[in-house]
This record gives sequence, structure tokens and C-alpha cells, in this order.
Amino acid sequence: MLALKKVSYSYNRGKKAVDDFSLVVKGGEFVSLLGPSGCGKTTLLRLISGFLTPDSGAVLIDGRDQSGLSPSMRRIGMVFQDYALFPHLSVFRNVMYPLECRKGDMSAQERNEVVADACRKLSISGLAERYPHELSGGQQQRVALARCLVQRPRLILMDEPLSSLDPGLRQSVREELKAIHDELKITTVYVTHDQEEAFCLSDNVAVMDCGSLMQYGTPEEIYYSPANEFVLNFTGGANILKTDGCDYAVRPEWISISDGENGLRATIESVSFFGARTRISALESDGNRIIADVPSVNARTLRTGDSVCFEVMHGVRI
Ligand code: ADP
Ligand code: MG
Repeated sequence: MLALKKVSYSYNRGKKAVDDFSLVVKGGEFVSLLGPSGCGKTTLLRLISGFLTPDSGAVLIDGRDQSGLSPSMRRIGMVFQDYALFPHLSVFRNVMYPLECRKGDMSAQERNEVVADACRKLSISGLAERYPHELSGGQQQRVALARCLVQRPRLILMDEPLSSLDPGLRQSVREELKAIHDELKITTVYVTHDQEEAFCLSDNVAVMDCGSLMQYGTPEEIYYSPANEFVLNFTGGANILKTDGCDYAVRPEWISISDGENGLRATIESVSFFGARTRISALESDGNRIIADVPSVNARTLRTGDSVCFEVMHGVRI
């Protein structure tokens, strides 16, 4: 549905913000671009939407090269971090806005129906007369999404849309986004620097660094088989354990505390309690450090200086 073919772009002929980037997104998929701040995610969205033109390479939608097509001709919906709602317009008028810009396409009655339908889908019908400042962050987010849907986009681009919400709301709006996508199945490219968000929302995740694609795969592939050290570290890091002849990457949460004597014996140097889980840092006798994240209920009696036996539940050969 969307294909990026060796797309490169640099601002003002500087360092490449997007570097030889290729990706294929199938129709109806939810794909995340995941990477640290400054790695080129927003630039890539601008290239897809047509606000920027690639220096080289091509953006194809439904098999058609989009070069020369303006953003409005591409039928792409955008949702931004700050929602960009009009403060002086009611919810209904905000959602109506894109249709009023193209009045010739529909009668007033058709426009009203399309807006009412989008408001129903996003459960904001009861808020139609309110103004943006009278809405919670999550409600504003839904208005922005409704405004995007009335344009019947074939592709939706979202740039860190949850990052200004507080953590609790973030999780509930995240679940709503997923439910809306499951229902409407509009192809979506979603930008985030939060791996949890990318993993729980997406069919596929593109991990980026310095403008380049590091790995493209399902959330499970990225988590269990990271393609390189960057992906491994950006998705939570890992211990490197040496066995005869080869190294294994073992994520902290792949280590448990063993009841018996079999496993890796180490001396605890610190115990950090995070609520649901506890992080234990411990040293083996040869000085190798092991970081383990265990359910806190299994670590209640552990103290600095204790000897502990770790069991490795999973490892990835690297
Ligand atoms: P991300 O969205 O992943 O944080 P961006 O796409 O915004 O990253 O930025 C990628 C790179 O391009 C960064 O080095 C950034 O400083 C640079 N950049 C972004 N926008 C501009 C701009 N308008 N002019 C010049 N450089 C820019
Ligand atoms: Mg950005």
C-alpha cells in the first residue's frame, strides 16, 4: 500500500536526516517508526505526506509514485502530538473543518452526516458543542482523529500523538487507538520513541537510528531476535553472557531467581524496587555483572551482599 524506495533527505544539504530508507507497508497494517529523538522519524512522515520532497528515492502509494503530488492530493490524514485543534471552533466545527475547505464535494446535509458518523465512531457525539479547552487530553486526541477520518484518508500518519498525555491516560488512549484501528483498518504509520507503545499497537515495527532502518519486523521478532546491538539496547538492553565459544544476549527480565543451586551464582551489589518489579544488580566471582528484573514478590527478602543463584530462561546468540 505504501512503499518507500531508497528514500534520502537532508535539510540544507547537511547530514542526511533520512538515509537510503526502504520499507513496504501492507494495506490495513499498523506500523510504527521507533527510534530515539532526532533519528529522522518526523522527517520521514513529512516525506510520506509530501511536505518534503526526497533528494533521491521514491514514495509510492497504491503502487503510484507520489512525486509531484501535493499533500492534499495524497489523501493522507495526519494526527500530531499537540492535536492542532482550532481553539475558537466547537468540537463539531473542528471535525467539520476539512470538509468546509472542500465545500463543492458534498451537500451540507452530507457533511453533517459524515461529521456525526465520525463523532459517533470516536464516542465524542456528546461533546459536539464543547470547545477544545473544555476537553481532556484524551478527548482532544479523539477530536483530532475524528477530524482526520472525515477526509476518508487511505493512510493515517501519527506523530507521537500520546506523548503529551499523563501515563494513566496514555494507556487508555493507546487502547482506544488500537480498538479504532482494529475496527476501521486504515493503514497507519505511527511515530514513537516508546518501545512499549510501538510493541503493543503495531503489526510491524521499523527501528530507526541516524536516518537509517535498523530492523523491520513484528514486535516479537524485534524483541526476541534483535538484528544488532543498537536494536538490542534501544529495546531495553541485555546482559552479555559468555559460554564456551559464543556470547548470548539475555534481557534482564529473562532472568529469574533460582530456588536450587543450579545457575549463575552472584553477589548482590544493589536492589532497586520499582513496584511491580525489582531490579537486581549482582557480580559473579569473575567480576561479570548481571542485571535481573524480577517480579518484586520474588525479591522481597534480597539485600545487598546476599549470595543469589540466577536461572536464565531465554537467551539470544549474538
Ligand atoms: P525525530 O522526529 O526522530 O526526532 P527529526 O526528523 O525531527 O527526528 O529530525 C531528524 C534530523 O533532522 C535531526 O538531526 C534534526 O535536527 C534535523 N532537522 C529536523 N527538522 C529540521 C529542519 N526544519 N531544519 C534543519 N534540520 C532539521
Ligand atoms: Mg519528531
